[in-house]
Amino acid sequence: MTGLLIKNCRLEGLGTGSVYSEAGRIVKVSEEATQNVPEGTEILDAGGGSLVPGLIDSHCHPFEYGWLKRNIDLRGTTNMTGVRLRLYSGIQKAKPDEWVTGMGWDQETFSDRRMPNRFDIDDVSPDNPVALSRICGHIALLNGRAIEALRFQERVGSEYERSPAGELTGIVKEAALAEVFERVPRSPERAAADLQSVEVEAGRLGLTTLHCILSPEGFAEELEALAVLHSSGSLSIRFRVYIPPKAMDYVEGKGLRKKMSNDRVRLNGVKIYADGSLGARTAALREPYSDDPSNRGILRQSDGELAALVERIDAKGYQAIIHAIGDRAVEQAIDALAGVAGAKNPKRHRIEHASLLPKDLRSKMVHHGIRATVQPLFITSDTWAADRLGSERALDLYPLKSMLEEGVVASGSSDSPVESMSPVLGMWGSMVRAGLAPDESLTLTEALGLYTSNAASNGFDETGSSLVEGGRADMTLLDSDVGGMHPALFRKVGVAATVADGFAIHSFVGA
Ligand SMILES: [Zn+2]
Repeated sequence: MTGLLIKNCRLEGLGTGSVYSEAGRIVKVSEEATQNVPEGTEILDAGGGSLVPGLIDSHCHPFEYGWLKRNIDLRGTTNMTGVRLRLYSGIQKAKPDEWVTGMGWDQETFSDRRMPNRFDIDDVSPDNPVALSRICGHIALLNGRAIEALRFQERVGSEYERSPAGELTGIVKEAALAEVFERVPRSPERAAADLQSVEVEAGRLGLTTLHCILSPEGFAEELEALAVLHSSGSLSIRFRVYIPPKAMDYVEGKGLRKKMSNDRVRLNGVKIYADGSLGARTAALREPYSDDPSNRGILRQSDGELAALVERIDAKGYQAIIHAIGDRAVEQAIDALAGVAGAKNPKRHRIEHASLLPKDLRSKMVHHGIRATVQPLFITSDTWAADRLGSERALDLYPLKSMLEEGVVASGSSDSPVESMSPVLGMWGSMVRAGLAPDESLTLTEALGLYTSNAASNGFDETGSSLVEGGRADMTLLDSDVGGMHPALFRKVGVAATVADGFAIHSFVGA
């Protein structure tokens, strides 16, 4: 196997140096700009760019992102006219009665900030059922044909929004979405193609490992796609897989856990939802929403139900990861995890997002060694946070610096397709914070730690988290020397090369 030399690179703490790797392992880290290597070695000249450990996205939905690339992408629309235009072109390609789906609208980016309803889209979609999920994935807009096809007319409950006159508005929330998206046709072949298109993009963005969350509706096809791609040697980066609770029996029945326990594809744990999102006002809060005083959000299950589920996951030896955004949901998640975590939390159970996290909850997390994954780009996107929470409570939103200083092991992620998958943008978001509690801004070393050492630890991957001899040859080469760079400039940093398992899977630098 040919080795790989990266020369003229900036190494943290060492200055300019070079790194030689072979057979997937780092063989020599030198303080010299280059080193003697065997003939035939592939050589990349970093030109003074920083070399860092391979970057890890510790919470993303690659199958959903791949699906979105094939469907109607509504991200970036600023009014319902834009949504209608994109929907109209999608409808033109569909046969009558075929489901038409899309994702990515956000009423907060619309000029009138009005929540859309079925009457906004019924006239452009008279012959097809339509489901368009909001950017957060916790709310969807259905047209009249979809309401009929799903037989939702008689449904009651806060998941099915009704107008003051009692009519369904077409807006459905949380658990109702699963029923909607179960109707979408799926196949392992399509899931495999989706995953491969996202893998290529991840490599270009400098990612060598993805913590991959499978969907509650499509997990069987997604697991099969992962297994087929892995056994044919088609995967170039690492996948740490998280399944929905209902997939546990399926996985056991098929003996998939053993098959997915290698260095490339590993079934790590189970993802649970405790609540919804702040954008959709379904995140569960201790006190009501500041811009909707009758509403405290939605808990997906009772305290007892969540605790029982966590116990079952823990007993099977899985890592439990719980989506919790509002402080009420985070508290529920901590209490459930505390029951199995003890003081050291050996299974590294985590809370995903942990968005509204006041001091008392941070202390409880530290006390039980409960970990977190955070999404720094939410900080720059949630421009409406102070409206939802009031300016006082918003100070406890995404308190990244306090979390790290107080001892929460927090790792960085995109929640793609909710945000861009770029870890460079994620690091930038954690350093600039765009006006939201600027005291919580991270330094470059801390920002990098979110996507390297902490992410590795949160996924049981320590050996890939630093550039040391004998360590895994997962490396990301940036196109500039980022040491001492002003945080605002970091946004423009490019990825010159990505090396996974000793192979340059993406590179635009020569020898
Ligand atoms: Zn997510």
